Amino acid sequence: MTAKVAIVGAGPSGCYLAQALGKLCKEAEITVIEKLPVPFGLARYGVAPDHQGTKAVTRQFAKLFEKQGVGFAGNLEIGTSPSAALSLEELRALFDVVVLATGLSQDRSPGRDFEGTPGIYGSGAVTRLWNSHPEAAEFSPEFGARVVVLGAGNVAIDVLRLLAKAEDDFAGSDFPAGGAYDQVREIHLVGRSPADQAKFDPVMIRELAKIPGLAVSIGEGTALNSGEDDKRLAALRDLATAQPDAITKKISFHFGWPAKKPLRSNGTLSGVLFERDGEEMALPCDSVISAIGYEDDGKLNRSALLDGASTHETGQIAPGLYAAGWFKRGPQGTIPENRADSQKIAALIAEEIAAAPAGAEKPGVAALQAQFGNRMTSYSDWQHIDDVEKAAAPEGRCRAKISNLPEMLAVIENRRQAL
Ligand SMILES: Cc1cc2nc3c(=O)[nH]c(=O)nc-3n(C[C@H](O)[C@H](O)[C@H](O)COP(=O)(O)OP(=O)(O)OC[C@H]3O[C@@H](n4cnc5c(N)ncnc54)[C@H](O)[C@@H]3O)c2cc1C
Repeated sequence: MTAKVAIVGAGPSGCYLAQALGKLCKEAEITVIEKLPVPFGLARYGVAPDHQGTKAVTRQFAKLFEKQGVGFAGNLEIGTSPSAALSLEELRALFDVVVLATGLSQDRSPGRDFEGTPGIYGSGAVTRLWNSHPEAAEFSPEFGARVVVLGAGNVAIDVLRLLAKAEDDFAGSDFPAGGAYDQVREIHLVGRSPADQAKFDPVMIRELAKIPGLAVSIGEGTALNSGEDDKRLAALRDLATAQPDAITKKISFHFGWPAKKPLRSNGTLSGVLFERDGEEMALPCDSVISAIGYEDDGKLNRSALLDGASTHETGQIAPGLYAAGWFKRGPQGTIPENRADSQKIAALIAEEIAAAPAGAEKPGVAALQAQFGNRMTSYSDWQHIDDVEKAAAPEGRCRAKISNLPEMLAVIENRRQAL
């Protein structure tokens, strides 16, 4: 009997899991199911477009589908939303083991006062736009000249850097051509924790030093000398010391300031008020981008599924049902951090498969092919999209991403017709 395994979500955790499981269970039929027509999750659609070295992890994942016999079933959403192809229960009826590796795509809100205010955006939405995610096709934020970035992790620094760069600084990336934000003149990054507890990596700060024309300051009330040995604080001190001859943009860092509420003038966003220990700081701005974490989109009832404490630890929700990656652990951890976690879950799944009594064979991917036929996209469809995007790269860019779903599906369909 061949064990049929469906991994839902073709992001890093799903790919690492398929990789590890493929080695442990050579006989298993492993299919990675993805709601988008194309694979790789945040490696393609979250990692900053000017970090092509990080995105190159997709070449490692490609081997899964090209050489290791793992199947890809794209354009199939699983869950409760009206656009879903199958519910989780329907999927479980077709496969022996289902792994949920669907990530966390919703921006965490900075607070009720901030919700519904024009000019306030989430970093997930903004980075999807900058990565040409099909779900961002209709999103057109207006940042104005002064932007406040809430948060002090690596994503907040990504946002700051991409707002700070000029068109020429995007050479070699796949940032949308002509998309640099020249009108942005002033960016404030504000973290709620003190600087020595902020989560950014020093390399992210050192990278900012390479952008010409940035005048960097450290906001009042931000102590950077508390951790003399802290590499991150040292990087910040170095950055703030080196000032350019000609200033194009100003950036400033503020730590230890929780956001209290947005400020409005005539109904329009005019700034953000921060407060700590009864002291207030108001920063005028035209827009806010909050980069304070992510949560579940609710389409797979994550909180109910992960109710048992041991699921967070082992990944097993029930026999034949597992969680992996950000969906399991929450919105923390880099791409490589998903690897070890996925390997542990793969080992558990392999044990379950080895111990399973012989029973009726489940249909697996054949049932998806029978039910969804043409609608389902394959790995070779993705390879075609990849070729088309690279061939369309304008000068100074490594690719021109197809940013809307109908166009992506039309490109796939045209090629199928031509075959
Ligand atoms: C903006 C941003 C920038 C980042 N930059 C870096 C970086 O530079 N370096 C680094 O190491 N880490 C970075 N990270 C962290 C890294 O992206 C994560 O560690 C990693 O992507 C988590 O992998 P995952 O597979 O759990 O989730 P994801 O990458 O989110 O993959 C989930 C996949 O599931 C699919 N999916 C969702 N719902 C469904 C459904 N219902 N049915 C079917 N498919 C579904 C999604 O389309 C997606 O393809 C960044 C994260 C963010 C948010």
